Amino acid sequence: MLNVSCQFDSGAIEVVRIDGDQLDLAIRRDSTTDPGCDFRQWFHFRVQGAAGRTLSLAFLNAGACTYAAGWHGYRLCVSYDHRHWFRIPTRFDGQVMRAEFACGHQSVYFAYFEPYDWERHLVLLGRAQAAPGATMIDLGRTPDGRDLNAVALGSPDGKPVWIIARQHPGESMAEWFVEGLIDRLLDGADSLARTLLAQARFYLVPNMNPDGSVRGNLRASATGANLNREWMQPDPVRSPEVLAVRTKMAETGCEFFLDVHGDEALPFVFIAGSEMLPSYSDKQARLQQRFAEAFKLAAPDFQTEHGYPSDKYTADALKLASKWVGQAFGCLSLTLEMPFKDNDNLPDADHGWSAERSRRLGAAVLAPILAVLRG
Ligand code: ZN
Repeated sequence: MLNVSCQFDSGAIEVVRIDGDQLDLAIRRDSTTDPGCDFRQWFHFRVQGAAGRTLSLAFLNAGACTYAAGWHGYRLCVSYDHRHWFRIPTRFDGQVMRAEFACGHQSVYFAYFEPYDWERHLVLLGRAQAAPGATMIDLGRTPDGRDLNAVALGSPDGKPVWIIARQHPGESMAEWFVEGLIDRLLDGADSLARTLLAQARFYLVPNMNPDGSVRGNLRASATGANLNREWMQPDPVRSPEVLAVRTKMAETGCEFFLDVHGDEALPFVFIAGSEMLPSYSDKQARLQQRFAEAFKLAAPDFQTEHGYPSDKYTADALKLASKWVGQAFGCLSLTLEMPFKDNDNLPDADHGWSAERSRRLGAAVLAPILAVLRG
């Protein structure tokens, strides 16, 4: 008899029925206190009793998820040890997403993307604060009572650089990215890291949405807020996470801002800027160009051909972090998107886009940041 469970960090799935080797599943809504919040896409669960069997998984409501286009060409993340993940193909008919998996062990995990759990988050914070000149910043408590932290690294007189990740908690690649970035900054033998630490003060928020991350949400916080729509008017009850970061930024200033995300549909790494803002300046345009050129050289996974069309300006644009920061501080302010699927320019048949590739991209982003700071 197969057994499906998800009572662990970021676990999320609903079992509709189990019939022999057939698992009929439903992707559940983000877990929040807001009954009107209707995001659904993230899943992460364990199957036991699977050794020697070929499992048929059917995600019955895939077509009703928030980003149904994300299932076209998507490959499922699978792990036996919850540490090493690989991909298996799926089929999506517009309604149901299916996958078959010949299971080699009793216990196996499936997830939308390689999870980044709270324990690893705490270990990352601990490692970062031990660096010379580092400061742990207590930004406050989340609605579920978790700690919201930033880590400051580099020269106290350096140019303030803010990098935040996981406003959308299911975009776990964003925290893998920040881990890669932090570990490179902590490498005392790395001349790029040392140069940057001498010139800049980094304020890093590896996880903007701890509650949504542990609850296993794609986009929402515990109160049902989409934090990346709260920047114009963050609310102390609904979106205290954004309010805390905005308040700290007002104190430190900001000369470069990066908000790290994952995109469900597009199989590419790309940035989105603030071109639609009336305040978008020649300087911001020049620095954005410089960032993009330097990033392409440092990490060929990054490209500028595919991305979001630059929207027409509406006042709503300022609800997004990178637009609001670009307007408020007049600095280069970007959203970075990594794929949930793969980079189609450099596909990896076994892993697709992965935690490790996200880490490497985070390490590589230091070169374009130095290019920007040199003005
Ligand atoms: Zn996002």
